[in-house]
Amino acid sequence: MIIAVDGPTASGKGTIATAIARHFGLPCLDTGLLYRAVGRQVELVGGDPENAEDALAGADFPDTLLADPELRSEVIGSYASRVSVHPKVRQALFDRQRSFAQQAGGAVLDGRDIGTVICPDADVKLFVTASLDARTDRRFAELKGHGRDVTREEVRDQIARRDERDMGRKDAPLKPAPDAYILETTALDKDASIAAAIEVVETKRKG
Ligand code: C5P
Repeated sequence: MIIAVDGPTASGKGTIATAIARHFGLPCLDTGLLYRAVGRQVELVGGDPENAEDALAGADFPDTLLADPELRSEVIGSYASRVSVHPKVRQALFDRQRSFAQQAGGAVLDGRDIGTVICPDADVKLFVTASLDARTDRRFAELKGHGRDVTREEVRDQIARRDERDMGRKDAPLKPAPDAYILETTALDKDASIAAAIEVVETKRKG
């Protein structure tokens, strides 16, 4: 069983994907981390994320970089969003994501284009979303919890900019697959969102 979990920044898709994977005993891949590693690699060598060649060179990052705690920062989130507009970067990461999805027994992948490009054949497609304000509140609380010095306004702006870039790019823009189930979580807390997602998968599984 392949489960695709897509959605915008700070929608809770990562939390939901991890919980579904645990519930159904499946491996899980956070594909955003791959784009973040590309962005971090570009930053480390002083490259320009807007430049296609610099961005593509970043796709050759060492696997050890995936454990770098800096990958989770908003700065690298923005680098990731900028390198991910280049079709060659997306192509360079395609096989890795595809083979993860096709392993025996199935897998859960979360990202932006899993249901549309990486796994159009997924058994279940979830598109997790929430209002900009709800996502800002969640990300702001998370960053404060990690002791980061940011204002709510800055976080809101960063999320809005990332939404615009992710939805506006030509190649693999963020959008629900036509057959995706839209999970709107603005009014749901974490546990309720996870329970709703599990129910969607269960229902699909039973056919
Ligand atoms: O999900 P996360 O915030 O970690 O993703 C970072 C950035 O990587 C996103 O803003 C998006 O631009 C890019 N990304 C993507 N396709 C994916 C996953 C992430 O373009 N499947």
